[in-house]
Amino acid sequence: MTPTDVTILGTGPYGLAAAAHLRQIRGLELRVFGEPMEFWSSHMPEGMLLRSPWEASHISDPQTTLTMDAFAAHLNSRIPTPIPLDRFVEYGLWFQQQAVPDIDRRRITRIEKDSNGFRLTLVSGEQFNSRRVVIAAGIESFARWPKQFEGLPREMVTHISNQRDVRRFKGKHVVVVGAGQSALESAALIHEAGGDVEVIVRAANVHWLGWRARLQKLGPLAKLLYSPFDIGPAGVSRIVAIPDSMKYFPRGIQDAFRRRALRPAGARWLVNRCKDIPILTSSSVESTVPAGGKLRIRLNDGSVREADHVLLGTGYRVDVTRYPFLPQELSQNLTLVNGFPKLRPGFESSISGLHFLGAPSSWNFGPLMFFVCGTDYAARRLARHIAASPSPNGSR
Ligand SMILES: Cc1cc2nc3c(=O)[nH]c(=O)nc-3n(C[C@H](O)[C@H](O)[C@H](O)COP(=O)(O)OP(=O)(O)OC[C@H]3O[C@@H](n4cnc5c(N)ncnc54)[C@H](O)[C@@H]3O)c2cc1C
Repeated sequence: MTPTDVTILGTGPYGLAAAAHLRQIRGLELRVFGEPMEFWSSHMPEGMLLRSPWEASHISDPQTTLTMDAFAAHLNSRIPTPIPLDRFVEYGLWFQQQAVPDIDRRRITRIEKDSNGFRLTLVSGEQFNSRRVVIAAGIESFARWPKQFEGLPREMVTHISNQRDVRRFKGKHVVVVGAGQSALESAALIHEAGGDVEVIVRAANVHWLGWRARLQKLGPLAKLLYSPFDIGPAGVSRIVAIPDSMKYFPRGIQDAFRRRALRPAGARWLVNRCKDIPILTSSSVESTVPAGGKLRIRLNDGSVREADHVLLGTGYRVDVTRYPFLPQELSQNLTLVNGFPKLRPGFESSISGLHFLGAPSSWNFGPLMFFVCGTDYAARRLARHIAASPSPNGSR
């Protein structure tokens, strides 16, 4: 059977944007797999609001006609800001129907190298070949589960990525661990749903975002310091908004930019919603033991509390070897740095024809790749590269 030219694994913002751009390449045979917007609709808390501003929430398409503004016009209604999660999911599904109507919703379970490029196996067992594979599988596989919570009953400890509906915590005592947007917002949602919640934060302070909005009064100065994507602190925000600029900085500085732009922080509009929630800073959990239907949690200061549930807002750590569809025989040939694949232009890894989009590409292209606003750069560069060289070995 003749191999497909390009297969995209994943139909979140990155996979959809890549597909929209690659479809413009005349004669290119493209297959796209995955349940559209599944991470957003199944692994983020119901009632969540987007942290990214409006300008940073468009999924890229070649003509820039499928923006959030176009979606609002299509609905003939105003979409509030911050953007509600369910509205963003609807936007993603609308984008998919307009730009990539012919996706295959099945999961890809295995990618192997073979003489025709790659052999892919679907959940149904069906196999096919593809010359190139673009992995846009997001961060779900990278959820961080700290050691001190290993081995505990899963009904008593969950990672936020698996706790969509927090209304079940009404009347319960819940300890949330973490100080990022999802930890703080989940705590607010539990509190609003009638739960008794407290937040354990390792750092000495909670970082609240939103300086760009506060500096808006300064007009041009704010624009100089912050890009409209609002990722990273003053100054850094402007640099990381241009992924091509990253390579001009020494590696140590690039890593510092990424760490700084991605450090745990909450949107400023959460401050008020969290004001009645106890937030313990400079605290960490030493041990957690189930006892009498509850969890006994010992903190670093020696204090002990009992909780019905621990919710881990401990984030995600990129390590592409954790993608379940990448067998060790393949991943061992990837050049990796701390779990990130080293990429060449066109988002191509050390294995020719294997590309990574989204968060895994941020070692090369910076923190923008963790967010929807990175889809424009990524999809355009990928499409340009593949248009220039449709087959990894030049033969087609
Ligand atoms: C709580 C939370 C809030 C966030 N808020 C924002 C925000 O406000 N703004 C923002 O820009 N970013 C936000 N992010 C980051 C967000 O996750 C990324 O911006 C975005 O999801 C990246 O898109 P993606 O396409 O790389 O990944 P995803 O959206 O995760 O898409 C990956 C897709 O791949 C599919 N997939 C995985 N494995 C397979 C397989 N084997 N076969 C087929 N399909 C597969 C999944 O089903 C999924 O649909 C947030 C993240 C979290 C956790």
